[in-house]
Amino acid sequence: MSYYMEIVNASKYYKKFHAIKEVSLSISKGEFLTILGPSGSGKTSLLKLIAGFEPLSSGSILLNNQDITNKKVYERNIGMLFQNYALFPNMTVYNNIAYSLRIRKLGKDVIHKEVERVLKMVQLEHLATRYPNQLSGGQQQRIALARAIVFNPPLLLLDEPLSALDKNLREHMQLEIKHIQEGLGITTISVTHDQKEALTMSDRICIMNEGRIEQIDTPLNIYKHPKNKFVAEFIGEINLLKGQCVEVDQTYVQVKLQNNKVISIANDGYSNTLQSQNVYVALRPENIQIVKEAGQLRNSIKTKVIETVYMGDSIKFILESDQGEKIVVILPSSQAEQAINEKEFIIGWDASDATVIVDEQPSSNRDLSKEKELV
Ligand code: ADP
Ligand code: MG
Repeated sequence: MSYYMEIVNASKYYKKFHAIKEVSLSISKGEFLTILGPSGSGKTSLLKLIAGFEPLSSGSILLNNQDITNKKVYERNIGMLFQNYALFPNMTVYNNIAYSLRIRKLGKDVIHKEVERVLKMVQLEHLATRYPNQLSGGQQQRIALARAIVFNPPLLLLDEPLSALDKNLREHMQLEIKHIQEGLGITTISVTHDQKEALTMSDRICIMNEGRIEQIDTPLNIYKHPKNKFVAEFIGEINLLKGQCVEVDQTYVQVKLQNNKVISIANDGYSNTLQSQNVYVALRPENIQIVKEAGQLRNSIKTKVIETVYMGDSIKFILESDQGEKIVVILPSSQAEQAINEKEFIIGWDASDATVIVDEQPSSNRDLSKEKELV
């Protein structure tokens, strides 16, 4: 398989601080990859390495079969859109966009044609003669996007460009950027800490933590089959019930919970859980049901209600299991209204509604020197 862009074993030190730790990542042409992670996990640093704003400490970067590791920013020709990537205040919209073509020494006619093309794409042809301070925040970001794509870059980097916009506008712009990205087929790496944005916009999501990649996968697999506790807890709300794997066969993984109750989870091939390993049964709040009696679904647990939160279209129940673990259940109001005043109930779920996660430390906390000795 040949990839359009590859980062191979990239490390970045700021003096002694190890900000990016042996990151490897491959992207196909036209793909939209989102890097998601907590603040300080190294997202911006990784983009800076790709753009060429910071040199790598070790490793290499390939773009379209060329090694760009030691190339200058302008030689890489990459399009960029940052949160604070301000437009030039003293230039009109037209000149802001034309600027990236003028420094590339293109002819006047070509520049005119290209500026018109991208202005049309962001639907702001009518604002060509305005200055940035005469535009709304959303319009400014559209112009910044037009400026980033006007020279047909091989790669587009987005670093939280929408985080300063209010929610409605942000969601609108997410769709707009996605449509433009798909229309152009431009390979894109986007950074965000907004998990909803990541889930809706991306072909794949890369979860970062403390300078390392925890998991790269499709939004669906990241949500349904998180590889470890960090990923599971980072994306969406999830219940993690501690237990020990007692049996694995082709159909089920059986897990003994702390109260000795055995739970069956469909063996979907995603977790490589082994017998006697310490694990978590991972259950999304929306995949749990309230049942009349144990046995109605493959798995069930008796619970006490700690708190009930009415949220309009849904109801959130905060429960405590008979082994003292907190379990959150979210049900559509239409299904759960009758349970709103209950103090106890039995919850259940089918074998395919849960997944198993091996209880290991996130990769960033592991002692790699020990792992190397083992190999
Ligand atoms: P994110 O974008 O995920 O919030 P950053 O890549 O900005 O994270 O930062 C990752 C880590 O590297 C942080 O701990 C940050 O303080 C540190 N860092 C970033 N840039 C520099 C720099 N120029 N000098 C020293 N440390 C830096
Ligand atoms: Mg950042």
